[in-house]
Amino acid sequence: MCDGPAYWCCRQYSGYWRAGRTGGKGPGYTGAYVPGSSLKGKMRSLLERKTGVPFDRYGGNGVYRHECTDRSCPVCRVYGATGGREGSDKNIPGRLIVRDMHMTPESVELLSRIETGLQYTEWKFENSLDRVTAAANPRQLERVPRGTKFNFEILYTVETDNIAELEEDITYLVQILGLVEDDTLGGHGSRGYGKVLFHFTSFEGRSLAYYSGDKSAVLRFDVKTPEECVAVAGQMAAFFG
Ligand SMILES: [Zn+2]
Repeated sequence: MCDGPAYWCCRQYSGYWRAGRTGGKGPGYTGAYVPGSSLKGKMRSLLERKTGVPFDRYGGNGVYRHECTDRSCPVCRVYGATGGREGSDKNIPGRLIVRDMHMTPESVELLSRIETGLQYTEWKFENSLDRVTAAANPRQLERVPRGTKFNFEILYTVETDNIAELEEDITYLVQILGLVEDDTLGGHGSRGYGKVLFHFTSFEGRSLAYYSGDKSAVLRFDVKTPEECVAVAGQMAAFFG
């Protein structure tokens, strides 16, 4: 059994994001952030569509998704699944961690000097018109200005000694990030919000020996794009073989 996380670090920019906050706007406020759960949910939904798995689990409130108890399922073995009616002994713990993405210090500094009427974010004005009377019904939405950068980190825990499965997981993860770039993140995507671009800074694998004190037990690639990451997925998988 191989163990220990591989992780990707990258920075994200061009974000239109309906703001989430680290808590108030008082001292210590460091700007809006993108919740890790939002990106993880988007990644899972895109992988479900890419792999064509059935949407057969009812999650309440009219929401259906895919969730099964098959440990070879490329969706559930990475993103996790509960056993549902088959019982908790069928639960599949997820292998993926997506950290919350906070604004870079440079973006916080830049936005603090721009007058938008809000601290670190901006008002987006929208309008709907009555089709008969042409009466305006304006609304405002708070969002992150274009070009804002967020630090980004995801971790995948290696829980298999099946190298082919590991390479498939890595490849899917990176391909899905590429799909997110051509999709949207957050709400109002069809109206221009949520375009993101990932800039990788590193792709690093750490074996169990690393956590026992051998800091050389690391394989690191200085990749910049999802495509470069996919190209070395096989080497990363073999590192854990
Ligand atoms: Zn599944």
